[in-house]
This record gives sequence, structure tokens and C-alpha cells, in this order.
Amino acid sequence: MSTRGGERTVLAGAGLVGSLLALFLARRGKTVEVFERRPDMRREAISAGRSINLAISVRGLHALEQVGLGKDALAHAIAMPGRMIHARDGGLAFQAYGKDDSQCIHSISRGFLNQMLMDAAEATGRVRLSFRRRVTSLDPEARVLTAEADGGPAERIEGAIVFGTDGAGSAVRKAVVEARGGTSTEQLLAHGYKELTLPASAEGRWRLERNALHIWPRGDFMLIALPNEDGSFTCTLFLAFRGSPSFETLEAPGAVRGFFREHFGDVEPMLPDLEAQFANNPTGSMVTVKCSAWHVDDRAVLLGDAAHAIVPFFGQGMNCGFEDCVVLDGLAAPGARREEVFARFEQLRKPNADAIADMAVENFVEMRASTADPRFLLEKAIEKRLLAELPGEFVSRYALVTFSRAPYRVAYDAGRIASGIVSELAEGVRSAAEVDLGRARALVAARLTPFLRERL
Ligand SMILES: Cc1cc2nc3c(=O)[nH]c(=O)nc-3n(C[C@H](O)[C@H](O)[C@H](O)COP(=O)(O)OP(=O)(O)OC[C@H]3O[C@@H](n4cnc5c(N)ncnc54)[C@H](O)[C@@H]3O)c2cc1C
Repeated sequence: MSTRGGERTVLAGAGLVGSLLALFLARRGKTVEVFERRPDMRREAISAGRSINLAISVRGLHALEQVGLGKDALAHAIAMPGRMIHARDGGLAFQAYGKDDSQCIHSISRGFLNQMLMDAAEATGRVRLSFRRRVTSLDPEARVLTAEADGGPAERIEGAIVFGTDGAGSAVRKAVVEARGGTSTEQLLAHGYKELTLPASAEGRWRLERNALHIWPRGDFMLIALPNEDGSFTCTLFLAFRGSPSFETLEAPGAVRGFFREHFGDVEPMLPDLEAQFANNPTGSMVTVKCSAWHVDDRAVLLGDAAHAIVPFFGQGMNCGFEDCVVLDGLAAPGARREEVFARFEQLRKPNADAIADMAVENFVEMRASTADPRFLLEKAIEKRLLAELPGEFVSRYALVTFSRAPYRVAYDAGRIASGIVSELAEGVRSAAEVDLGRARALVAARLTPFLRERL
């Protein structure tokens, strides 16, 4: 992908996707300018962004491997081979994510990852990161981008080829959609989230099982916890903004402690400063963004949350954004026409982004409600048995999304077929062991195998 004289390669946003993209572009020989509205998190203590830690899986790790950072990331990540379900009575049940412990997701600090990517981008000598610079407008036709310094004058950048990596509330998306006469929808979830830190023990150890993603499913709301390197966990409460119970009802004096005691009795004593954290930590919102235009000819393109913010219940937002970078880089062979690269990128990625957006919403119901449902547990056990006993034949949606790089669209459709098979096999049995494997094999061969053969 070539850059003509007088052109400047400009990125809006140095979050996870912007920092990784800068690195990919620099490796292709580009000189890259990045405008980030926040201060430099490597020099000032600011919140890491939308969550303290997150789950990285195969797609995200593959992207990091392409820029030589896979091992460095994993060295600071904690493997989570399954989810630990916390029942109301304190009972624990571990549900493996994959066929064995080699298939796991990893908890990683967002701040660490972002800083590592910024350092690596700068180390190329081709990337200049400018902080406290907010992109305020873009005129793709004129190739002019405007960025404002904190309290300073606005800067006009002419000849800008813009990569919009400015997250869910993207200013670049607004300009791109307008220029193409497209549409953009931002669907806000009725639930919000609040993060709380569950500190390490006095000995600096994890007070819950370290190698698991913990879930307290409670129907309409849930608590989850991901481990951090320092022995702490980051807990996240997902709860409706309004109604009962909701963030609104928890505003009453004493309500938070009572709510945790009632619904998350095992973890409540481990949160001595619960009230203070609850009052001081922000309540975040979650949005699904779908927009019909991702680029303006060869002048601007959107990646990451700017193009396709999704709710976090499949742990794929960042993974998907990192995969965007890999796909764009793969299309950008030397000499490739930029307009064609951007157009092909949109064509390839948009159906996949829509698919993971829908799967993420569906997974919210699975996480908060179904993980405690006996029928769901039976189907999960059958799925696990099929994964183990029919390797290379049976695949689940979760495995395709999390442990493979199959297009999300294929994972979506294959998942439907697979869960239909599992649901049929679950009829009339009380345990996974009772399932007739011959029948299972025949169903898989008739429905799933031909689909995967055609689509992969
Ligand atoms: C609670 C929660 C948990 C999550 N957990 C996971 C998970 O486990 N796994 C996973 O894969 N994903 C997860 N995600 C999703 C993930 O956070 C996002 O997909 C990811 O951060 C997207 O990266 P990004 O760089 O596109 O956007 P962002 O991380 O939002 O970064 C955008 C950057 O642009 C900057 N910016 C914004 N506007 C401007 C402007 N006008 N000018 C200049 N700079 C600007 C911002 O300051 C920011 O630094 C989670 C999200 C949430 C909310």
C-alpha cells in the first residue's frame, strides 16, 4: 500500500487497536503520527480505559505474534482454562472452556498491554505519539483533519490519510459515515458495569482460584472476576441501570453491602472497602455500534471499536480489533491500491464484525442466566464430550470464536448447527455419558461437516 508525496499517515486514538496498528504500519515503512486525546499513561497515573484487565484469546495473540510481541504478552498473562461458577449457596463448579487445559483464554492488564504496544510502536523510530490531542473533525474530501491540544490551539493536518482507531464514540466514524451518506446505529445496553478490586491476601496470593474466570450468575445480573498478576482480582458487576435491582436502587444508604451479602455471599467479606469503591468507581455503559460505511475511498478507514464496538460478553472486542489490523496488513501488499485495500477490508470485515456483535449480546444471557441452569449444564457436558470424542469432526461456537481464527460469521452459523445437534442429543438423557456417540457422529457428518467443508 503506497503513500503519495504530501500525504501524512495519521491515526486518531492510541488505545489498544491504534497502538497495534501504528506498529503494523511502521513495519510496512510508513511514518505514522498518532493523536491521542488522553495523557500518556506511561507517565501519568490514569485509568487504563474501559476495563482494568481483559481476556485475550487466539485472534488477539496471533496479531501480537505477527509483530513479535506474543511471548511478551503471555509472560504477563494468567491462563484461564475455564469458568468457575459460584452458586448462591457458595458451591463451586468449574466448566472447562475447551477440550483440555491447552485451550484457554488469558487475563491480561489493559494498561500493561497498551503501554507495551506504545513502546514497541515508538521503538520503530517511525511512530510519533502526540498526547492530549483530541481529533475534533475530519474533512475526508479535502483530506484535512483537525486536532485540538488541551487548552491549546487547533491544529490543521493537511494531506491526512486517516485511520480511525478512536473507539466507540469515534469522531472519525461520524465523518466517514457522513461522507459516504451511510448510517450508524449505537445500541446502548440497558445494563451498565462497575469494576471493583478484590485485593490479594496478606501473603500476596489470589483469594479465589487463580486460573479461572469467575462468574456469579444471578439471572438478570451477574458478577465476574478476572485474575491480575499482583494477586488481586478485578470484579465487574453487570447490572441494569434502572428497575429492581439496579444501579439506581443501590444508591440507597447501606444497599450495596446488603446486595452483595445477599447475592455474592462468598465474596462480600473479601471486599472490606466495598462501599467506598462502589461510590468512587465509575459506572460504565456498553454499546453495540454497527455502521454501514467503514472507509471513504482511499482517504480514511475505521478499525476496532470505532468501526464495531461490541458488548464484552464474548471477550472479543479487542481480539476482533487486533484481527482487523492483521487483515488490513495482509491486504496491504506493496504496490496495492489503497482504495481497493480499504474497500476489500470493509467487505471482508463488516459481516464478521456484525456476527461477533450479535454473538456477544447472546452470550450475555448465557453468562448471567444459563450457566446456572441444569439443562444448559447438561448441554455443555455433551458439547465437551463431543469435542473430546469427535476431534476434527465436532466444533462448538465458543471454540471457533475463541480458539480458532475461523471467520466470526462461520462461527456464528456453525455454532447454530452445533447447538442444534447438542440439543437433539440432550433429549431424553440425564448425563453426557448416556449420549449415543454413533448417532452423534452421524448428525455431525450430515449437518456440520458439509457446512464447514464449504465455508472454511
Ligand atoms: C467492561 C469491558 C470489558 C471488556 N473485556 C474485553 C475482553 O475481555 N476481551 C476483549 O477482547 N475485549 C474486551 N472489551 C472490549 C475492548 O475494551 C475494546 O474492544 C477495545 O478497547 C477496543 O480498542 P480500541 O483501540 O478500538 O478502542 P479504545 O480502547 O476505546 O481506544 C480508543 C482510544 O482513542 C482515544 N480517543 C477517543 N476519541 C478520540 C479523539 N477524538 N481524538 C483522539 N483520541 C481519541 C481514546 O482516548 C482511546 O485511547 C471489553 C470492554 C469493556 C467495556
